[in-house]
Amino acid sequence: MQAFDVIVIGGGAAGIGAARTLFDAGRNVLLVEADARLGGRARTEHVDGMALDLGAGWLHSAEHNPWVEIAALHGFVLDRTLPRWREQWREIGFSHADQRDAAKAFAAFEKRLRKDPPPGDRAGAALVPGSPWGAWIDAVSGFVNGVDTAKLSIADYLAYEDAATETDWRVPAGYGALVAAQAAGLRVALATPVTAIDRAGTALKLHTPRGTLVAGQAIVTVSTDILARGDIVLGGHDDILHAAAALPLGLADKLFLAIDLGADELEANAHLLGDPRNVITGTYTLRPFGRPVIEAMFGGEGAREMAERGLQGAADFAIEELCALLGGKWRRRLRLLAGSAWSRETHVRGGYSHALPGRASAREVLATPVDPRIRFAGEACSATEFSTVHGAYKTGVAAARALLG
Ligand SMILES: Cc1cc2nc3c(=O)[nH]c(=O)nc-3n(C[C@H](O)[C@H](O)[C@H](O)COP(=O)(O)OP(=O)(O)OC[C@H]3O[C@@H](n4cnc5c(N)ncnc54)[C@H](O)[C@@H]3O)c2cc1C
Repeated sequence: MQAFDVIVIGGGAAGIGAARTLFDAGRNVLLVEADARLGGRARTEHVDGMALDLGAGWLHSAEHNPWVEIAALHGFVLDRTLPRWREQWREIGFSHADQRDAAKAFAAFEKRLRKDPPPGDRAGAALVPGSPWGAWIDAVSGFVNGVDTAKLSIADYLAYEDAATETDWRVPAGYGALVAAQAAGLRVALATPVTAIDRAGTALKLHTPRGTLVAGQAIVTVSTDILARGDIVLGGHDDILHAAAALPLGLADKLFLAIDLGADELEANAHLLGDPRNVITGTYTLRPFGRPVIEAMFGGEGAREMAERGLQGAADFAIEELCALLGGKWRRRLRLLAGSAWSRETHVRGGYSHALPGRASAREVLATPVDPRIRFAGEACSATEFSTVHGAYKTGVAAARALLG
């Protein structure tokens, strides 16, 4: 049986960051991935000649995002066109006056979170009862946090907001493709789910359906929902499992609609929110990169509803929302091209992590090792850059460096 210095479990951004760091430091490292491909929640699919990101698409906080440099290293071009999420194209269905009112309501909500937070650390308690913009604030929270404000920790939300910048860039060839490219040259075992880590001997034994692997050290980078479900039997890691349960994955999903006719009637990279008065609504980027598609995203309760409807049901919903804004002729012009259902992905089970009210400190617990040979990494371990690809990557690099001593 071959023994490795380190085995990294999970081939997403964190696992690739960890394995790359260890490999570059001369360690004999194996990256073990349950799925048949690398990238995890950064996943690019190639459809009709386009690279579509079904998971992460934006290099958030580009000023301190290591993927900017990695993209240059691998020859991936970046598109620095900033997102227009805060604009409603031609004010359709959301007038400038209403947008201003909604933005004011959000600013007042965030001010309460900072200056006069309600007891209990529950963001939703700071909403004004009966406000016409409560549903909109919850919809925005769904996109950003994967969950509405009722289940959101104030401390956790603000930790992210304080660290993030407003500079978001994209990769036309796909963020998922870029993440996978960073694994070039690494030794990888795909389709190999680790089911248990046996810590009894001096060497760790990792059980998989394809046999047992042996390593001196391990880095675990699976999502919090995978950890909390006990998909990997760890033994003696109750604090880690409780921390993972306090950092559940919210929901986020993507949907791409092909524009079969009249694409040039829509402005490239313009944005529409489906319905500013409904928490169950999509956010639509028209013709990203000038392509003949509309990219829809659903978050929180909206994503939950779309997962129940299934991909075609979600596409029908999106097309109806767009027809209500753009006119009925678009019903025949739009069709489902591709979409995600992250809550049904066996080895992920959701979108990105958020702390439950009162549980923001769980991120630190998750990143603190119980056994000095085993480290945890992944987006949820980042205190301030969780729910992102760059945050995940940094935790992987940090875990690797910690093992390197
Ligand atoms: C729809 C959507 C949109 C998003 N948009 C953005 C965005 O624009 N920008 C951004 O920065 N972030 C975005 N994110 C979040 C980002 O994708 C994640 O935060 C990040 O990719 C997580 O990386 P990770 O390595 O922590 O986890 P993952 O990517 O989940 O990697 C963990 C890996 O572990 C594997 N695994 C699970 N169980 C086992 C096992 N037992 N054995 C071996 N392997 C296992 C999984 O298959 C997976 O590949 C988005 C996410 C979604 C879902």
